[in-house]
Amino acid sequence: MNAETYPFIVRPLPYEYDALMPVLDEDTLHFHHDKHYKTYVDNLNNALSDYPELQKKSLKELLSAIETLPPQVQTAVRNNGGGVYNHELYFDSMKNPVGQEPGGALAEAIDRDFGSYRQWKEQMKQAAVGKFGSGWAWLVTDNKGKLSIIQTANQDVPDLKEYIPILLVDVWEHAYYLQYQNRRPDYVEGWFDLINWRKAGMRYEDAIRGKQ
Ligand code: MN
Repeated sequence: MNAETYPFIVRPLPYEYDALMPVLDEDTLHFHHDKHYKTYVDNLNNALSDYPELQKKSLKELLSAIETLPPQVQTAVRNNGGGVYNHELYFDSMKNPVGQEPGGALAEAIDRDFGSYRQWKEQMKQAAVGKFGSGWAWLVTDNKGKLSIIQTANQDVPDLKEYIPILLVDVWEHAYYLQYQNRRPDYVEGWFDLINWRKAGMRYEDAIRGKQ
């Protein structure tokens, strides 16, 4: 996903709008994908429109070196580039809410680094529910395969020179408010059933093989 360059396109959801019911309903996904995510794509393209040299860079390259970009464009890339990166990974990390559990090397790493799936889930839930304001909770790995849970604010990404994202949950109110209003814990609890563990496992295996 990281090879793309300007102009960035709005990627379709990798499933139907009703595929994540009952955890996330069609209205929630239409607003989240068709409005919020699309706005980040449009704003990122607008921000880069006058910078031909930046148009050759992938999103990951832009986000990994924000401090080296022209000062006038840094905030726009951070907010909108992050918004694109985070939402594409978020939508691509979900599936219909049945079946699948962590498997393979990722399951072993979760047991090793958190004690058990149950303990990982508890910590991930605390990170997501406890994130003050708008932001994200992440499961990331370093390049040696060590997992950790982190939070980012707004549309910030983790330090992509240090971490490779495996999973993330959006805790901006726009991700859940239509359906859950202020009940963020219920949304987060439901999100665990939506995790696409097959894709998460592939990301982890790519990361430990140095393919990322
Ligand atoms: Mn969002």
